Amino acid sequence: ASGISIRGVTKRYGSTIALNGVDLDIRPGEVLGIAGPNGAGKSTLIRIIAGEERPDGGELTFDGNPWSPTVDWHAVAVVHQEPQLFPNLTVAQNVLVGREGTGSGKPRLGAADARVMDALGIGHLKDRLLAECSLATQQRTEIARAVARDSRVFLFDEPNSALTADESDELFREMHKIAAAGRIVLLVTHRLGDLVQHCKRVAVVRDGRVRTMLEGESLTEDG
Ligand code: ADP
Ligand code: ADP
Repeated sequence: ASGISIRGVTKRYGSTIALNGVDLDIRPGEVLGIAGPNGAGKSTLIRIIAGEERPDGGELTFDGNPWSPTVDWHAVAVVHQEPQLFPNLTVAQNVLVGREGTGSGKPRLGAADARVMDALGIGHLKDRLLAECSLATQQRTEIARAVARDSRVFLFDEPNSALTADESDELFREMHKIAAAGRIVLLVTHRLGDLVQHCKRVAVVRDGRVRTMLEGESLTEDG
């Protein structure tokens, strides 16, 4: 099967069972939504797909091969709820972290970066030191950095909670572009309206498992 397949994935923290046998397929070309209450295991699942944590059990594959993204850090772009950036670098330098330069030297912002940064309202702040930026700017920088990457997998954990409605629309446009290019795109959000509008499939996670998969028609009906 193409895309990421997650089978029977479990994760414990002490006596807390964060994931209790997650089964999920994420197909290239879709923006797969993840919904569910606080503590359901959504962020844990993102960290495991991103390779930031190892599952205790179960299996992850990508196009049928074992998926271990720690081997290839460039494989995954993540928007964390808490921005994970470098305070002593500028906004632009943070966006470029992990990117290789072309030919002669350091990586530089390209037209696509400028477009995304302008859409998120941080274009004019590119030379500002991150430590001197508001949390809102830091969150937008985290998003711009992920969106601008050339990764196979994009994971968004509540990316639009800090965005204006217009910026959120821009972000969804970018997500759909990324998905249309055949990448894996996963979106965790509490905003049901966004999921209904932007995702053809939504996995509802509760108590560490995927309880329901909403698809197509069932998404656009009431309730
Ligand atoms: P969600 O993102 O759906 O709110 P999480 O994945 O953050 O859920 O958390 C799932 C469960 O695992 C919760 O009970 C949470 O308190 C617990 N948990 C998550 N991360 C840790 C951690 N690093 N240490 C201890 N418990 C954790
Ligand atoms: P989310 O809404 O994504 O679940 P949380 O506020 O639950 O966010 O978690 C934020 C961070 O705190 C995560 O890195 C998570 O691993 C950690 N965390 C969550 N629950 C616990 C816990 N019970 N003990 C220790 N760390 C936790």
